[in-house]
Amino acid sequence: MAKLTYIYDRTCQYTGCGKELFGRSDKKYCNDACRNRANSKNRRKESWGEEKHIYEITRDLRRNRSIMKSTGAFLDQTKVVTRGWMLDRGYNFDYYTNILHTKKGDYFFCYEFGHMELENGKILVVMTDRYLEINIRAHDNPPNP
Ligand SMILES: [Zn+2]
Repeated sequence: MAKLTYIYDRTCQYTGCGKELFGRSDKKYCNDACRNRANSKNRRKESWGEEKHIYEITRDLRRNRSIMKSTGAFLDQTKVVTRGWMLDRGYNFDYYTNILHTKKGDYFFCYEFGHMELENGKILVVMTDRYLEINIRAHDNPPNP
């Protein structure tokens, strides 16, 4: 029994191998091939995690935008909803694309739609055409020097 314990004590850290290790006690892989395979597997895992993170934030920003859009807010027409109403629809208050500071308070925007917290859990939803203006200006003829 003691011998079996010894055998399973130290094995190659590459999950696809698991061979018994001999030699230095800090050795993690049985050979270079296993080390390389294990390292590239870890790198793939990391880059996938990064992609997932970006994907999830983008998805939340898009969802936030469509929730605010669904209130019917449009340019000079603002809407008032509750924080609970937004949370019920899956609004993620952690993510926004930019903040507009005003004397009345801060607007948190997701693209062209933004919201400001009012009292009693009420939320003001607004839409800006600033993004449209930026877009039009970018496509205008360049000014004469
Ligand atoms: Zn190995």
